[in-house]
Amino acid sequence: MPDARRSLPSVDSLLRSDPGKRAAATVGRALLKRGLTAVLDELRAAGTPASSSGHERPSDDEILARAIAGASRISSGLTPVINATGVILHTNLGRAPLPERAVRAAARAASGYSDLEVDRDSGRRGRRSERAEAMLMALTGAEDALVVNNCAAALMLSLAALAKGKQVLVSRGELIEIGGEFRIPDIMSAAGAKLVEVGTTNRTRIGDYRASFTDRVGAVLKVHPSNYRVVGFTASTPATDLARLATRHGVPFLFDVGSGLLRSGHGLPPGEPAVADALADGADLITCSGDKLLGGPQAGLIIGRAELVAKLRRHPIARAVRVDKMQVAALEQVLTLIGTGHDDEVPVVRMLRESAETVHRRARRLNETIGGDLEHAHVHRCESVVGGGSMPDTALPSWGVRVSVPDPTAFAARLRTGSPSVFVRVEPDHVLLDLRTVTDEQVPDLARATWYALEGDELDDED
Ligand SMILES: *Cc1c(COP(=O)(O)O)cnc(C)c1O
Repeated sequence: MPDARRSLPSVDSLLRSDPGKRAAATVGRALLKRGLTAVLDELRAAGTPASSSGHERPSDDEILARAIAGASRISSGLTPVINATGVILHTNLGRAPLPERAVRAAARAASGYSDLEVDRDSGRRGRRSERAEAMLMALTGAEDALVVNNCAAALMLSLAALAKGKQVLVSRGELIEIGGEFRIPDIMSAAGAKLVEVGTTNRTRIGDYRASFTDRVGAVLKVHPSNYRVVGFTASTPATDLARLATRHGVPFLFDVGSGLLRSGHGLPPGEPAVADALADGADLITCSGDKLLGGPQAGLIIGRAELVAKLRRHPIARAVRVDKMQVAALEQVLTLIGTGHDDEVPVVRMLRESAETVHRRARRLNETIGGDLEHAHVHRCESVVGGGSMPDTALPSWGVRVSVPDPTAFAARLRTGSPSVFVRVEPDHVLLDLRTVTDEQVPDLARATWYALEGDELDDED
């Protein structure tokens, strides 16, 4: 076999060719060049010709086509997907979908000028998150609030401003990791605080905290283990006891509740600590996310005692983790919806509350649209989960369409890469489309995507 590597074309010659020039006009020359370099490197590294015909090196057109495909996947940007996984807060799919009026507010803030940081009456300088913070105070009864870029930043800022160079007591059962990069011990050391682990993984009592207290302790931190549960022989220390202990030692009690539920109840599944409850239990400073159970944009909410929030606001990290104007605009609208009793317009809240019967009707509609008599598609009972590191042991009764196919993994891949793109749950002998996280408007598109993917499956069978 001849060494095909030597005969590979150069990046420049491909860019200068007519199809290369045409492609550059749509995906951009820089991205195309990067794509070509990658494809050629790969062919060189493989050493052997990688053409579909098997013997010769791929043609120039094939090389270009591969590079264009790669480049256009990037240049087309984010692709909207239909979430048929039944995971409501799917971090990889963007967590909370925003309510319509929050989307419009974010777009308005982005497309023109606004009174982002100015008081229109006095003409004086204001703060961008002032309005959202006032709403948070009103909704939770807290003395003060501060909005930053996300909850990880909120915690980092809190620790840096209140406990730098000091010890922070945390239960061993709460040294959580969320989504790989967010680990309590790492955040702690990045903020310059010294983690002191208290108790054991499954049991931490107030006496364990008491025994660990020295005059070098600068704060007590409680972290809601939002993406797992320690079950069995367990004991955790109630927030009220921690609040009392911290007060006695004159240090702040920080509570990272994570999910951003402002008040409990309202038909939402129980089990998540709400901000208002944490305040009532005596937490001095509470941190949580904007795009989990609150159903808003990515944001970190810091809620609590005025004197502590003031310290955070003055800290240089506060500026480094400030929110963007689009986030602020969207958050204001979500908080307004919650404050005016219209939280049903918040998609996350609606999905959490929707009855199994309503989801069942949607599943039947999808099944009929796909073709009710298809023997491999059936309406089936299933369970949705909240996800996004919230309520790990809460399953919501739901309904879906189960599609039995010979190769569910390949079928799911076709759904993912199709148009519209669909994400589903993959089981050993079928895929499941959970209708709780699908809107009524998406049903026809979802049916169409399923047909296309099924056609591919039938072709595979014939091969
Ligand atoms: C999700 C979560 C975080 C991280 O929040 P982000 O907004 O994603 O930065 C921190 N702490 C807890 C307890 C969480 O659940």
